[in-house]
Amino acid sequence: MNISIFDMPEKAIEYIKKNINLWQPYTNLKFNFINTRDGDIRISGKDDGSGNWSAIGTEAKLKPLHEPTMHIDLLQTADMLNHTIRHEFGHALGLLHEHQHPDNEIQWDKEKLYEESGKLGHTRQDTDENFLNPPDSKTTITSTYDSRSVMHYKVPAEVTSNGVAVAFNEDISEGDKQFIALLYPPTHVQLLDD
Ligand SMILES: [Zn+2]
Repeated sequence: MNISIFDMPEKAIEYIKKNINLWQPYTNLKFNFINTRDGDIRISGKDDGSGNWSAIGTEAKLKPLHEPTMHIDLLQTADMLNHTIRHEFGHALGLLHEHQHPDNEIQWDKEKLYEESGKLGHTRQDTDENFLNPPDSKTTITSTYDSRSVMHYKVPAEVTSNGVAVAFNEDISEGDKQFIALLYPPTHVQLLDD
């Protein structure tokens, strides 16, 4: 899989590579970083105010080759930046939000959540898409709910009605590693007659 990283200083490129490579041992993919802008995954760091986002898995193939498939906002604290790169690359590998898992233990206080995310500039529709809507069960493979997943947002108890809170997850969890290994299983050499 070819990965292009552009519109940022060399130091930032190296930082992003280091974080992406944390996923590598749990996949059968080879992450091949290239210097041109036409990779399968194209990561921009251009200061365009678009926040952090990524195409989910194969959605990246539907994007025109001259457009990025992922964006990283470089103006963040180190722990947030680590989380962001690992999380967005999780999306690139096809992972969805863990806090939207059908078996999560969160009972959202929706009005409070809309209010708090509104303060960060998010519309109700953004909030529905990024927090509330469950994934399409017909097209989604689901593992056990994992509140330590790097694909989980931090959830303060103030936006839930049952007092459940989920801490900030900086690291790729054991559950994340197992699930990605399930999606990208190691290939075995076929030595037996069939
Ligand atoms: Zn996300």
